[in-house]
Amino acid sequence: MDAPVQDVFSIGTGSAAAGETAIGVLPVAVGMDAREVVIPIAIVNGGRPGPVVLIEGGLHGIEIVTVEICRRLKEELIPADLAGTLVLAPQINPWAFLASSRFTPQDAQDMNRVFPGAAGGSVSHQVARVITRELLDRADIVIDCHSCNPPSIHFTIVGDEGGTEVRRRSVEIAEVFGYPVVLANTAYSGTLSGYCLEQGKPTITPEFVFSRRFDPVSIDTGVAGVRNVLRHLGMLAGGPVAVDVPRPFDEVRTYRSIGATKGGFCFFDVECGGAVTKDEPIATLRDVWGTEMERILAPQDGVIIAFPLQGNQAAGTGDKVAYLAYRSGNEP
Ligand SMILES: [Zn+2]
Repeated sequence: MDAPVQDVFSIGTGSAAAGETAIGVLPVAVGMDAREVVIPIAIVNGGRPGPVVLIEGGLHGIEIVTVEICRRLKEELIPADLAGTLVLAPQINPWAFLASSRFTPQDAQDMNRVFPGAAGGSVSHQVARVITRELLDRADIVIDCHSCNPPSIHFTIVGDEGGTEVRRRSVEIAEVFGYPVVLANTAYSGTLSGYCLEQGKPTITPEFVFSRRFDPVSIDTGVAGVRNVLRHLGMLAGGPVAVDVPRPFDEVRTYRSIGATKGGFCFFDVECGGAVTKDEPIATLRDVWGTEMERILAPQDGVIIAFPLQGNQAAGTGDKVAYLAYRSGNEP
């Protein structure tokens, strides 16, 4: 008996028959110049049935590395070798990209705080609603790509939402991807990953290194990580391949952010990726002439995995200065 035939898979203007790759665009809004605003998508539709995996990025407009990761995957994957479907959506917030901003300029929203979107809401909410319906709700597994600027290690976050089973499966996929894995210790409302986890969909958030740049290590290890996930899911033949990134810890940890209470230019007291002990200084905030404004101490033992400063090497009250990976006792 012949294997069952995989259906045509269509999103927006893109339509791929079984064993084909197609590109297209998904209309998400109309601008005030009456022109349609679209996001680029590609569909790698396998020759055999299997899960639908979505890789999306660019929700924050300055995080562009997913563009190159998705381009490579589209070029390199042979659809006939694939079981299931890979959907590539590397730039899902076009306005934030055009403004070189993390945020959507029209409504000053972080689009990663408005999911699953709302019909009558501002542009970020309405676009999120289209992305939810056309991309998220049609995927079985979601790889939600983000970036930190250096100093940062490559790591993968699994969110706090959803039940224990979806978290277990997500951690398994995150480990297979190949970066050190951290669980989120708090849930922000309205994240894309949180929505997917709440739907019971395994979801991982790799944090690549460098916003605004095409970092070769992030691209190479990102492509390798996705291939590892596809092999793990039985969509590609073969077993996982180790990815070459620093691994300051092998066990799953939890991470928390450490914020400034004052403000100033930020000088790092420890190496990113290094272990710290409780009350050890991790960063110092200084004014223009070097006067110490605040010394930021490690709240507990752990490893600093990033200094996730959003813009310049400086922080104001409440800004995140460091991410600390620690053992909470809740890890699997
Ligand atoms: Zn991001």
